[in-house]
Amino acid sequence: MNYLSTGGQASATDLAGALRAGLAPDGGLYVPERIPSIAIETLVHNTDLPETATTLLAPYFFRSELENELPRICREALDLPLPLIEFEPGRAWILELFHGPTAAFKDFAARFLAACMARLRADSDPVQTVLVATSGDTGGAVAAAFHRRPGFRVVILYPDGKVSARQAHQLGAFGDNVHTFRVSGNFDDCQRLVKRALNDQELTRKLALTSANSISIGRLLPQISYYAHASVALRASGHEKVDVIVPTGNLGNALACILAREMGLPIGEIVLATNANPTLQEYFSGRDYRGRAGIETLANAMDVGDPSNFERLAWFFRDRDLRQADISAVSVDDDAIRACIRRVFNQSEMAVCPHTACAVEALRHRREIGNDRPHLIAATAHPAKFEAVVEPLIVQALNPPPALAELLKRPSRAEGLEADEGAFTHRLSELD
Ligand SMILES: *Cc1c(COP(=O)(O)O)cnc(C)c1O
Repeated sequence: MNYLSTGGQASATDLAGALRAGLAPDGGLYVPERIPSIAIETLVHNTDLPETATTLLAPYFFRSELENELPRICREALDLPLPLIEFEPGRAWILELFHGPTAAFKDFAARFLAACMARLRADSDPVQTVLVATSGDTGGAVAAAFHRRPGFRVVILYPDGKVSARQAHQLGAFGDNVHTFRVSGNFDDCQRLVKRALNDQELTRKLALTSANSISIGRLLPQISYYAHASVALRASGHEKVDVIVPTGNLGNALACILAREMGLPIGEIVLATNANPTLQEYFSGRDYRGRAGIETLANAMDVGDPSNFERLAWFFRDRDLRQADISAVSVDDDAIRACIRRVFNQSEMAVCPHTACAVEALRHRREIGNDRPHLIAATAHPAKFEAVVEPLIVQALNPPPALAELLKRPSRAEGLEADEGAFTHRLSELD
């Protein structure tokens, strides 16, 4: 399989080349040159996610140097619990994607990318420094995935005071080969520092810098597999097709769902559930695409006004009208998020995180207008990770899941940093 750049100016490469580069040299994002189709029958006997992923992702790994490693990569990275919980009897299910080490769905992608990168590394290569700017969840997932991996060091930058207390503790709790900076600024400042460092060729060479932000194709691919696994399981229980609602920020997780459907999996309409950031809802209701700065909401991991993966989505639909593709978008504001968290808890004693609440709210809208089709909702984080939002609404304490509780018990340390490029590159070059 060849990988092309959405920029159209970079030469084609194989998967390993796309993984090593992260961003394509013309500044575009790597995409597979075509979307392979899969026969559902080849997946029905797979008993767990690593098996499904191995079958499903084989065409994407075809003729790359990682081809023979794919089964081991899937087993190592994707063997996490994946409960499918009935939410409305016989017609709505919640796919819990938050049972990995950092209690958010990003664990699947970060672990897969780390498993790939570790295998692309020669023993004689210098230690690679993985830079990651995070609004809360990505940093922890990437740190957990590379923690104590020989040959890698992780540098996290997060905006001081703008992540939840548990997220902040977790981001500083790894130690060893993980170095955490809390930046006096916002998420955009953190991203700017990372980009600046990656554009500094001397520093990039000296520290073997690389990035693990959501632009890597190695994060997109594994996310296709859980939509495949769940939709095939629901089909086996008699539901021919399910509509899927995905909480969305940068469109990574949702694009994976769209790719799953394009590959031939039994998925109907795909609903993008955003917080109050209106870019996608505007676009899918017929207006021109207009990227802008993100606004802060209770679902902070989705505070995105210009989703980076929109470029990939537009590329896949370059010959078709994206607005006629059975994709819709719903924007949910903070008041509706709060009301939804309360209502779901009162009705079913289930606590949902603010991101998942956007998707549950989108389902409520659809039921209200008489849509009674079967639906699958992607639940992206454990509610206990967003305790400051969720606990007051449900008037109950939430226990963190075991892996997160382990991290929260460890001491946490983050170094303060001004949002200044010079200061950051200086500190980077001093790290040992
Ligand atoms: C990152 C994140 C999202 C958004 O995912 P995208 O792939 O950027 O759309 C949603 N929910 C949670 C909890 C997240 O951490």
